[in-house]
Amino acid sequence: MKVSEKLKVINKDIQAAAERAGRNTADINIVAVTKYVSNDRTQEAVDAGLVHLGENRPEGFKEKSETISGDVNWHYIGSLQSRKVKNVINEVDFLHSLDRISLAKEIQKRAEKQVPCFIQVNVSGEEQKHGLSPENTSQFVEELANYDKIKVIGLMTMAPLTEDKEVIRSCFKQLAELRKEIAAKNLQHAPCTELSMGMSNDFTIAIEEGATYIRIGSSLVGE
Ligand SMILES: *Cc1c(COP(=O)(O)O)cnc(C)c1O
Repeated sequence: MKVSEKLKVINKDIQAAAERAGRNTADINIVAVTKYVSNDRTQEAVDAGLVHLGENRPEGFKEKSETISGDVNWHYIGSLQSRKVKNVINEVDFLHSLDRISLAKEIQKRAEKQVPCFIQVNVSGEEQKHGLSPENTSQFVEELANYDKIKVIGLMTMAPLTEDKEVIRSCFKQLAELRKEIAAKNLQHAPCTELSMGMSNDFTIAIEEGATYIRIGSSLVGE
């Protein structure tokens, strides 16, 4: 199916979820995750009107950002090894996976301008997942005051892989609560207004819980 057709379906679901939550769809951004698909399919996504693209590996990120034409905001959504920072950071418009001081240090050293970042939080506590524990997130954000190349625009999480919608919802709710607490501190380097959460399987729940960036791959551009 064409990306534009899939996008129509997804936009309907976004609209319905936003209505249920009393939210404006203008506050919900789709990040098209193109990690599984070719450059041609990615270009099709841009031509269909998608302006946010996400990749989760340095190699894929570089290839896509060098090949795709159009006015694209580039999102780096995967875990990023410190030694790879220099390869991508100056092409990254949004980083979704800041989760440790060593990474912040490397960004500070390599970035030529300020990078809008989401702090990745491992709300569900699964061992194999990257991200800070909710307990440590607030302190971590405060420490980032010393890094002027980093602007904390929000928090990011991945819900656990489960069919249980209430478990997923609870994960998103906790992230939203944490975001509020951090934003209430009015830190100059950390407005923390955004929530990056929700993927193909759970983006409607994420919208109901306040997501402002949803990251959609398989159901939008394909696997
Ligand atoms: C792959 C990926 C997505 C998109 O997943 P789909 O289930 O294909 O929509 C979103 N976020 C991250 C961090 C990913 O790695």
